[in-house]
Amino acid sequence: MSDGKIIVVSAPSGCGKSTIINSILDTGKLSLNFSVSATNRPPRPGEEHGTHYYFLTTDEFRNAVSDGEFVEWEEVYPGRFYGTLRSELDRMIGEGLNVILDIDVKGALNVKKLYGVRARTIFIEPPSIDALRKRLEARGTDTPQLIDMRINRAEYELSFAPQFDTRVINDNLDAAVAETEGIITEFIK
Ligand code: ADP
Ligand code: 5GP
Repeated sequence: MSDGKIIVVSAPSGCGKSTIINSILDTGKLSLNFSVSATNRPPRPGEEHGTHYYFLTTDEFRNAVSDGEFVEWEEVYPGRFYGTLRSELDRMIGEGLNVILDIDVKGALNVKKLYGVRARTIFIEPPSIDALRKRLEARGTDTPQLIDMRINRAEYELSFAPQFDTRVINDNLDAAVAETEGIITEFIK
C-alpha cells in the first residue's frame, strides 16, 4: 500500500479558510482526513478535545516538543503554540489515508520541506486587503483595534504566498470551494 498524500491549506485570518475546508469535508466527495493539531490555547465554546484540537497545558505542550512529538510547531500568536502531531500525521499517511492540514503559513512551508512531492500547499487569499477588512468587519467578532492587528499580520502572511504550490483567490465563495476541490482531486487521484 502506498502512503497517503498531504494537503496543507493556509491563509491569513479571515480569508475564508475554515469555511472552504469545512465545505469540502462536509460534501464528503473527497476521501480526506483532518489532522487534529495540538495547542495550548483554551477551547472556544463548542470546541472539543480530539476533534478540533488536542488542548494541552503549556507544560504539556513544551514536553511534547522536547519529546519530539511534533512534525512542526509554531508560536502563531504570542504565547500561543500550535503543532502538528507526528502520531496524527504519520499514522494516517502510513495507513494510505489522504490528510488535510489547516496550519499557519510557516508551518505549511515546513511540512512541504519535510514531505516534498507527497505534500501540496494551497494558499487562500482575499481579493484585496480592503475586501478582507470589510469581511472581518462584517463577521463582527473583533474590535477595530484587533481588526487592524489582523490586517497587519495578513499583509505579512501574504508575502509568503509565492512560496506555495498553488494560490486560490476567495472572491466568490462557491468558485473558491470548487477550485480548491479541483486542485485536491487532481493531486490525490
Ligand atoms: P478563516 O478561517 O480564514 O479565518 P472564515 O472561514 O472564518 O476565515 O471566514 C471569515 C468570514 O468571511 C466569515 O464570516 C465567512 O462567512 C466570510 N466569508 C468567507 N468567504 C467569503 C466570501 N467569498 N465572500 C464573503 N464572505 C466570505
Ligand atoms: P485558531 O486559534 O484560530 O484555531 O488558529 C490560529 C492559527 O493557528 C490558524 O492560522 C491555524 O491555521 C494555525 N494552526 C492550527 N494548527 C496548527 C498547527 O498544527 N501548526 C501550525 N504551524 N499552525 C497551526
